[in-house]
Amino acid sequence: MAEARTLRNPNPSPATFPARNASHRIVRKRGLFLPVSSSSSSRSSSSYAPQSSLRYAVLGAGFAGLSVAYHLLKHSPRDSRIRVDIYDEVGLGGGASGVSGGLVHPYSPKAKLLWRGKECWEECLELLRVAEEAAALDELSNKNHEIDGFIIRRRGILRPAMSMKNFDVLNENARNCLPSCRIERTSQDAARNLIPYFSTPCNAAFYLPEAVNINPQRYIQALFLACQNLVQEASGVGLEEKELHLHKSSINKLTDLAPDYTAVIVCAGAQADSLPELSSKLPLRTCRGVVAHMRLPESARNGNIGESPSILSDAWLAVQNSSSLYMGATWDWNSRNYSRDVSADEASRALVELLSKASVIYPSIKDWTFSGAMGGVRAMPPLTANNGSLPLLGSIDNFVTGNGNEDIKFWLFGGLGSRGLLYHALLGKLTANAVLSCNEKLIPSELISWKKPYID
Ligand SMILES: Cc1cc2nc3c(=O)[nH]c(=O)nc-3n(C[C@H](O)[C@H](O)[C@H](O)COP(=O)(O)OP(=O)(O)OC[C@H]3O[C@@H](n4cnc5c(N)ncnc54)[C@H](O)[C@@H]3O)c2cc1C
Repeated sequence: MAEARTLRNPNPSPATFPARNASHRIVRKRGLFLPVSSSSSSRSSSSYAPQSSLRYAVLGAGFAGLSVAYHLLKHSPRDSRIRVDIYDEVGLGGGASGVSGGLVHPYSPKAKLLWRGKECWEECLELLRVAEEAAALDELSNKNHEIDGFIIRRRGILRPAMSMKNFDVLNENARNCLPSCRIERTSQDAARNLIPYFSTPCNAAFYLPEAVNINPQRYIQALFLACQNLVQEASGVGLEEKELHLHKSSINKLTDLAPDYTAVIVCAGAQADSLPELSSKLPLRTCRGVVAHMRLPESARNGNIGESPSILSDAWLAVQNSSSLYMGATWDWNSRNYSRDVSADEASRALVELLSKASVIYPSIKDWTFSGAMGGVRAMPPLTANNGSLPLLGSIDNFVTGNGNEDIKFWLFGGLGSRGLLYHALLGKLTANAVLSCNEKLIPSELISWKKPYID
């Protein structure tokens, strides 16, 4: 990946937006994107003067950061000039997002609809669609396209009932499922038509035909393309000026960024706590998980799972194609090992744990061979009184500068826990709208109530 990627529309205003030293400007010139040149202009400078200049720093290029960046660019006022700088020390999808299992549906493990499940689900599907469309346009216009393979895999998810008690709970809650993400009861035999050799301890499973799994790294790349397209589209309209920059650099202090920006939005996942201004102030626990990549050797191919749903149980299996899947479900609490790399020792411990869980529901996993592992850390938020665990949003000026004023400078969108995909689209949109209006009241109170103990 390039060190930093930049796209701006053909009518930039360098005087208003001075380039930061860390950024190398790479302008996309192929396919649908027009050549960018400082002399090219889609309108005369006298015909239109943008009303205001907005400059935002988004810290983190995972699901949260990309969603916020997309919605900032999408919803900025029509007569504004906006620049979004995304900072990530690793690059696109460098944190938990890039290693996630990519499984998405709007339910708890007991099949209860999660907080604002319908809205979150619909917004998530919409953002996935936007990213998929951006990748498809890119493929059409660009012979050396950057995103190969599926972004969204629409084969559903199967959840086995692990005991009769578990069956009763799932069965009861499934009655209230969304029409747009159904939960259908099925027998083991019927489930085996979906996944050969699938096994369920009490002959029952629940099938979510509309649930999806995504390829997280491709999705993030595609969402970045969608952000770039918004910049490019704005240049054609002639009313707006938009810029987008991706800086591969580490931010040591939030206050270092502050002078250059209208607002700074922290989407740093589990590492938010490593920023000195936020250290020990966020009610987040960290939890590292290891994901194993499994391949099916040619000699063992006696049941094709290429068209099968993924499986969600004590372990999850995210099917990629007939001979490749990801397997996960390890929980290492309070880990501070943010590295994607997994040592041989960590990998072998994880594999033992994962195989013992996965083989209960998919015994054939023992025929598959281990072909690598990666790790990531989830930022786990606390339980709320009535809504389960909810991400942490809102202004954090009080934490960063010690006082909160009306002109909010610092915002947080973090603590996405194990539900990053479900929450990232709606909450990224809510965050972006609150930031653009400088109005924290646009965020539902249950998402900012985590601050109460710190402010009272
Ligand atoms: C093993 C595993 C499996 C998962 N499976 C699923 C799943 O199937 N479905 C699901 O919905 N969720 C899943 N999750 C959870 C999901 O991955 C997270 O909720 C989500 O990725 C959080 O996104 P984020 O953008 O908040 O954080 P991240 O993706 O961690 O992004 C934060 C980014 O900030 C950057 N950063 C941090 N600090 C700094 C700094 N100081 N300077 C510069 N850059 C910085 C990091 O490099 C990182 O790229 C899984 C998580 C793990 C670990």
